[in-house]
Amino acid sequence: MTDLLSAPPGGYQILVVEDDEQMRRFLRVTLRVNNYRVYEATTAAEALAIAQARRPDLIVLDLGLPDLDGTKLVPQLRAWYKGPIVVVSARHQENDKIQALDAGADDYLTKPFGTGELLARMRAALRTTVRQAQEPDQGVFEAGELRVDRDRHEVAVRGQSVKLTPLEYRLLHTLIKHAGKVLTRQQLLREVWGEAHLDEAHYLRVYMSALRRKLELDPARPKLLLTEQNVGYRLFVDG
Ligand code: CA
Repeated sequence: MTDLLSAPPGGYQILVVEDDEQMRRFLRVTLRVNNYRVYEATTAAEALAIAQARRPDLIVLDLGLPDLDGTKLVPQLRAWYKGPIVVVSARHQENDKIQALDAGADDYLTKPFGTGELLARMRAALRTTVRQAQEPDQGVFEAGELRVDRDRHEVAVRGQSVKLTPLEYRLLHTLIKHAGKVLTRQQLLREVWGEAHLDEAHYLRVYMSALRRKLELDPARPKLLLTEQNVGYRLFVDG
């Protein structure tokens, strides 16, 4: 994996998987102008071949491909590919987007999206992957005003110690483990409550509001425990 602070010489290599000519051109131009190296695939088969050959640093994946549903391509890539996958979906593909995230995609963009949003998501996904490769799942985690000592299970916000219930702690710990990444409700329910509770999204709502009350300055406008509309949640990390 390439270094966090400095992109590799020649820039990060991005594989763009998109069958739509106009969209592909927009992505190609935008990424090249911003010093990314771009490979392009127009089908899932081509995407797999190029990903294998080039080992890109990140894959931008359109879900509506001619030969295979993008949601089916994600698990095939995830079988060996460790880099971030950012899926691009149309409005009518909301459920596909969630399926792709469940299968291991890191983030998503809904068409139409702007250049700034695309680049911000890509930078965040690249940082998250690097951080996860470097950071152990223990020790002290800090993000903004939150400090979590994962060896002692101690949580503090703005220097004040906060008491969490075991389940609240487990939920927070799971979000920290995937800091910066979008987690679907299913992923959170599976990791925190277990396979038997995948339908009980209300658990998640209840515990997420409890966590926000304890950790956020204004629980109605969370800065740390962000809601991803219709998808799930994300722990915000700044860099
Ligand atoms: Ca398409």
